[in-house]
Amino acid sequence: MLRPLEAPLRHLFGPGPSNVTPRILAAGSRPIIGHMHPEMYEIMNDIKKGIQYAFQTENNMTIAMSGSGHAAMECAVFNTVEPGESVLVAINGIWGERVAEIAERSGTSLLGLQTPYKKGRFSLIAIEKHKPVLFFLTHGESSAGLCHPVDGIGDICRKHNCLFLVDTVASLGAAPIFMDKQNIDILYSGSQKALNAPPGTAPISFNERACHKMFNRKTKPISYLFDMTHLSNYWGCDGKPARIYHHTGPVSGFFALRESLAILAEKGLEESWKKHKEVAAYLYRGLEDLGVKLFIPDRVRLPSVTTIAIPEGYQWRELLSYIMKHHQMEMTGGLGPSMDMVIRIGLMGYNCEKRNADMALNAFADALKNCKKTKA
Ligand code: PMP
Repeated sequence: MLRPLEAPLRHLFGPGPSNVTPRILAAGSRPIIGHMHPEMYEIMNDIKKGIQYAFQTENNMTIAMSGSGHAAMECAVFNTVEPGESVLVAINGIWGERVAEIAERSGTSLLGLQTPYKKGRFSLIAIEKHKPVLFFLTHGESSAGLCHPVDGIGDICRKHNCLFLVDTVASLGAAPIFMDKQNIDILYSGSQKALNAPPGTAPISFNERACHKMFNRKTKPISYLFDMTHLSNYWGCDGKPARIYHHTGPVSGFFALRESLAILAEKGLEESWKKHKEVAAYLYRGLEDLGVKLFIPDRVRLPSVTTIAIPEGYQWRELLSYIMKHHQMEMTGGLGPSMDMVIRIGLMGYNCEKRNADMALNAFADALKNCKKTKA
């Protein structure tokens, strides 16, 4: 504790967190104000508008969680399902597995729907067959590098009186999502990926159908901190004249999140989606020129996080340590089901530039040249 704080400058080219822009860093370092000061409420109102734009929704029940993406995952499940109800989870990587575990811990009866990575798409007959109260899908599966199509699923869920919950932690701002048009009932994301804010806050939005279900429950949600009855008041979404103390929100985190959403609004979603697509395509070409294989077929690749099949004969840990040591650059291995199968490169938001793709390609080529290849 008697040494000064050290945090090196690194190129964060993994699946998140990504580098934070100077403007967002500056916003986060402004003097603290009280979490219930009128100026803070103004900032929270701005955040709400920023999330509505990023999610393409007009939902009133739109807030940011005081917590990382997991807080939003838990908030979504804890508030919308009650013990004994059934939840259907599409599992195409670790995030489906996590939500399945969260649903199981909340006492629901759980159905997992698995799909092979390469196939990319789920069969949705299960929604009709099992009639769950909630269906979960990860839009941008960062552990697999997969972007699952969303069109049409909301309509099927609606037909079967099921809420449609979508995770866009790794895809918001990088791949198109239209909460209202696509009939998504609950949508959440994270701050630390294409939004380039520090980790620790997580946008989430509920439409009327989701609000109807969660505010007409027989039992209280198992979490006090994530109870939307309280959070909706804290965010001024419940129509009550006064906000009452519930918890102390992360003031600096909200400053930074506000600024990250402002940058996205200034840039425009279309522009941001286009940029991610172009830089990702540039990275794919560069990787293929190096002779490595991409893990996910082109039509369902996630533009923010690219997965590379581990090059034959190499130890992935050795390649990543070399890149960190010699290039001060983070790339990561797989996670959950993709562990020992892939290396992941993330170029998100502020990091999504061709010059960064060149740096990543150069570092990867250098590691392939200098790390030992085991004999077959
Ligand atoms: N969902 C997805 C798709 C993610 O990529 C992540 C973070 N890697 C999460 C959820 C969880 O977010 P957090 O780590 O912020 O809790």
